[in-house]
Amino acid sequence: MRTVEQHAQVIADLLRPTTVAPTPLSDARGRVLAADLRAPLDLPPFANSAMDGYAVRQADLTGFPITLPVEQDIPAGRTDVAPLTPGTAARIMTGAPLPPGADVIVQVERTDGGAERVRIDSAPAPGVHIRTVGEDVRRGDVVLPAGTVIGAPQIGVAAALGLATLPLRRPLRVLVLSTGTELVAPGQPLAPGQIYESNAPMLAAALAAAGAAPTIEHFVADDVAALRAGLDRASDGQDLIVTSGGVSAGAYEVVKDALTGQGVEFAKVAMQPGMPQGAGRYRDVPMVTLPGNPVSSYVSFEVFLRPAIRAAMGHPDITRPTVRVPLSGPLDSPAGKRQFRRGQLDAVRGTVAAWGGPGSHLLAWLAGADCMLVVPEDVTHLDAGDEIEVWLLG
Ligand code: AMP
Ligand code: MG
Repeated sequence: MRTVEQHAQVIADLLRPTTVAPTPLSDARGRVLAADLRAPLDLPPFANSAMDGYAVRQADLTGFPITLPVEQDIPAGRTDVAPLTPGTAARIMTGAPLPPGADVIVQVERTDGGAERVRIDSAPAPGVHIRTVGEDVRRGDVVLPAGTVIGAPQIGVAAALGLATLPLRRPLRVLVLSTGTELVAPGQPLAPGQIYESNAPMLAAALAAAGAAPTIEHFVADDVAALRAGLDRASDGQDLIVTSGGVSAGAYEVVKDALTGQGVEFAKVAMQPGMPQGAGRYRDVPMVTLPGNPVSSYVSFEVFLRPAIRAAMGHPDITRPTVRVPLSGPLDSPAGKRQFRRGQLDAVRGTVAAWGGPGSHLLAWLAGADCMLVVPEDVTHLDAGDEIEVWLLG
């Protein structure tokens, strides 16, 4: 039997880092910056007004009120601003370039708002409402270090710096293929003995949430030829194939039957749920074969796939945030296996509860959980109040 760490290493070793490509900002969210981003210009690029008002010279403000002729009007976007003649004011709007020579911005509220001449009743100190060149970032500075996960503010600053693309790691392309003769697509009628296919949509959503680019291939029956045909149809150009089902110890284990000795190694991992696992390559494409029970499939994704694919996409944080929290009730766990249980946190009491039993078919309980509880291999019982490792699923 493999340890969780050993199987995790096998899967991590299958994946290479994805390539880096100049990526339009519209596709950048959630991806990882591959190199330090240096500012190609100063921000702000020119000194400008932070207020609607008047640009004047401090030296001209000899007493209040004072009336000055308004020599020019400077809305935002003017590119031909003349120097401020001594003894005059320029009407200026927020974001408009400061005329050379001006050192005070008087907000319109401190004036009569005149267009030809302006009466100024009071004024702030020089520089107060002036945004200086490079105040936010200086040309050449590292604005975003390599490894930054791109979100809305990072896209904003890239655009402000005039960048249409960023050097980002490509999402991992993942083919998702479920197996099982009992499966029926949601939306179709169900005959006795059949169940709806839930693993592929769940795994594809989990992969997308982790930053990968999943494609679902229509599930196949427990038939070796059908599985091979499905894989051959859809594996071209994929970075990873993820199957579910057909890897445990029964008869009709289609994934095992089709791929044993064909580049995929099947192993038992000392965990519950998720003991039967497989990993390897199908025609050179890395492949991970997950167990079919829906909770096993999801737990296997969290334990093995999510960290590996995030590492391949350059993410700095590949694991879920982990905390230790006291249990609200007792918990039993099998000896020799790491148990992963669904949990729900109680933020008010500062405790965590096991959410549903350990059964790997209890999908609705998984859907109601907000965290995963991890019980070490050598622990068979925990009491209320004992601290347990908790993965926050977010
Ligand atoms: P298997 O690993 O193929 O033996 O499947 C184990 C259990 O999970 C069985 O009860 C299957 O019906 C169920 N199962 C397998 N694949 C899926 C799937 N894609 N969606 C829902 N249940 C599944
Ligand atoms: Mg099956």
